[in-house]
Amino acid sequence: MRLGILGGGQLGRMIALAAHPLGITSTVLDPAADPCAAVAAGHVRGEYDDLVALYELAKRSDVVTYEFENVPVESARWLAERVPVFPPPKALEVSQDRIVEKTFFQTLGIPTPPFADIQSREQFDAAVRDIGLPSVLKTRRFGYDGKGQFVLRTPADVETAWAQLGGRPLILEGFVPFDRELSLIAVRGRDGSTAFYPLVENEHREGMLYRSLAPATGTGEELTERACDFAHRVLTELDYVGVLAIEWFQDGPRLLANEMAPRVHNSGHWTTEGAVTSQFENHVRAVCGLPLGSTAAVGHSAMFNLIGFKPDFAEVLRMPNAHLHWYGKEPKPRRKVGHVTATAATADERDRLAAECARLIPARPC
Ligand code: AMP
Repeated sequence: MRLGILGGGQLGRMIALAAHPLGITSTVLDPAADPCAAVAAGHVRGEYDDLVALYELAKRSDVVTYEFENVPVESARWLAERVPVFPPPKALEVSQDRIVEKTFFQTLGIPTPPFADIQSREQFDAAVRDIGLPSVLKTRRFGYDGKGQFVLRTPADVETAWAQLGGRPLILEGFVPFDRELSLIAVRGRDGSTAFYPLVENEHREGMLYRSLAPATGTGEELTERACDFAHRVLTELDYVGVLAIEWFQDGPRLLANEMAPRVHNSGHWTTEGAVTSQFENHVRAVCGLPLGSTAAVGHSAMFNLIGFKPDFAEVLRMPNAHLHWYGKEPKPRRKVGHVTATAATADERDRLAAECARLIPARPC
């Protein structure tokens, strides 16, 4: 079996590494000369809308997937006429636009923060009146890691936010005074079978994921079941195949959907050491039509991102049950260059290890 991957970053690399022991070879399509996935996969160099490059990828693949959601939908559809493409391009379309995505959630009965579509200054002023402050102004498309966002706290922020983001299609969201952020990683196979990893607790700093704790503590059966039920609705509606991540705000008993990613997700990196089957292997299994593996956690894990920062490798590895994943990228400001996962038998022991990791890894993006 030959797997094609649109995108050759660290997610593509970890997918290709997981495919290898299953006897599946991978090829990535990426515009960079030396993408970080190329250590584990063949490489077709080209832009994501370059038909010659897309044709070459299709020729080299029995099935195609993607590692990031900003692949042009037309490219995914063009490929899907030539080779099976999973997750379905419709999932890309939904997740690329925050208004389409939140409307989609609401159609399925999945609660979201209040939001409004902003196409003009008049609409912005009306939405600020309706939704109130604090609220968050975001670009509808191409925002990630906190980019293209402005938190409005005082009436004076309205002018500044507009000066910064106005002129593009925007969304205004009510600011959720959440207790914590959670995510759910789900997977659906080509035969329609589904599996869900335990809920994960995520801590962001300056809009970027700093740390994930898995399984999240104190979620209870009811909350877990609700999150799985919501995710199941999304998987079924899209006739989804592959790994899907949904990020949530927990506000007391309420669970509000923030966004979804139709791919393997940073908050699922702990599964490599902390679950029976990693999210990467399960994604490969799903898109290649193989049976899904168990999503059960093995003990308790803490995952820390390395953002623009190279730690002393020996110091990290001296910690018991700490695992380093270095992506082979040059550290640059706000660039994810690796992660560290620590695993333990109990949540208390995990928290002790997490405190040790926190001493070695900066709490803010470098
Ligand atoms: P996003 O790119 O939408 O995932 O936003 C990045 C981070 O900003 C989230 O993980 C939250 O920490 C914060 N954030 C985004 N939207 C909201 C909101 N409506 N209310 C509160 N915090 C938010």
